[in-house]
Amino acid sequence: MRAYEVVDASGLVKLDVMESPYRLPDGLALEVGQSVAEVAMNRYPVPSATKLRALLREVMQVPAGCDVLLGNGSDECIQYVTAALAREGAVVMAPVPSFAMFSMHALFFRLRFVGMPLRADFSLDADAFLAAMAKERPALVWLAFPNNPTGNAFAVADIERIVRAAPGLVVIDEAYQPFAGATFMPRLVDFPNMVVMRTVSKIGMAGLRLGYVCGRPEWLEEFNKTRSPFNINVLTEAVAIKLLQNKKVLDAQAAKVLEERELLKPELERLPGLTVFPSAANFLLVRIAGNKGSGTRTFERVRAQGVLVKDFSGGHALLENCLRLTIGTPEENRILLAALREALK
Ligand code: PMP
Repeated sequence: MRAYEVVDASGLVKLDVMESPYRLPDGLALEVGQSVAEVAMNRYPVPSATKLRALLREVMQVPAGCDVLLGNGSDECIQYVTAALAREGAVVMAPVPSFAMFSMHALFFRLRFVGMPLRADFSLDADAFLAAMAKERPALVWLAFPNNPTGNAFAVADIERIVRAAPGLVVIDEAYQPFAGATFMPRLVDFPNMVVMRTVSKIGMAGLRLGYVCGRPEWLEEFNKTRSPFNINVLTEAVAIKLLQNKKVLDAQAAKVLEERELLKPELERLPGLTVFPSAANFLLVRIAGNKGSGTRTFERVRAQGVLVKDFSGGHALLENCLRLTIGTPEENRILLAALREALK
């Protein structure tokens, strides 16, 4: 295998990894600076991050009786959940293509990963998934809702069928929930074998590295056994508290991104040879018409004009000639559109 590649975006309009394009307003940035100045950096973090967890439960409307367990990004949550369920012969299942870390952590813990291909339109084939679950009896199922890199949200009724039939744990990965509206968070009370994973990365805090798993204490206590004790550093905790107390600023930024997605989509659809897939997230997956290599060629032509997007050719077969475009500021989206128009000439 190869290490996860993080591309150098220096000098480029950065539309490759679904960050928020917006920094903090000056006033709030100064307040964050003040909070950081007050932190006792000589001390280890309070292992249970009590205050931050309480704030997340409140702000993110975690149902009563459920709690949150923090991770250094949801990437780390994927790691500790997988570790907690790892045993000889256990199976991990997820639709494919989906987020790469689901299968990578299965591999690290020597679990067998069974990826169930999505349909050509990236919808979930729930019947096929249920049949495979009956055969494989997975200890762990990952469902990204909405899905990355396809951008669509699978049908709620299909997810419910999978949760009901699963012989083990189902994690609903809601990294893109701020742009989707729909959520399984209130359903935690209905499904004892389900937890919901979230992150603050897509709402302006990707650099902080803070993700969390929401669920019943019985599950969280097990995951907690495999979590490294000081995984959330004191600076992340202080900054996240300040920003979550000002969540309306982040919400307004996310609303602008949503608005821009809806403006960009029809513009992209007007470009020749480009198919735009439905999105409930802060990015749009597009396919470039033409033979093998047309996606990568377009990617390179766009990059030559100073815009970095993500090229999926050479990955999963369903993603041949697909590019993933993160929604940026109005100005960035205008530059992207012009670069794509030029690249597709
Ligand atoms: N889940 C999904 C579906 C994602 O797309 C991502 C980020 N690309 C993550 C989890 C991880 O996010 P983070 O580690 O920044 O919380």
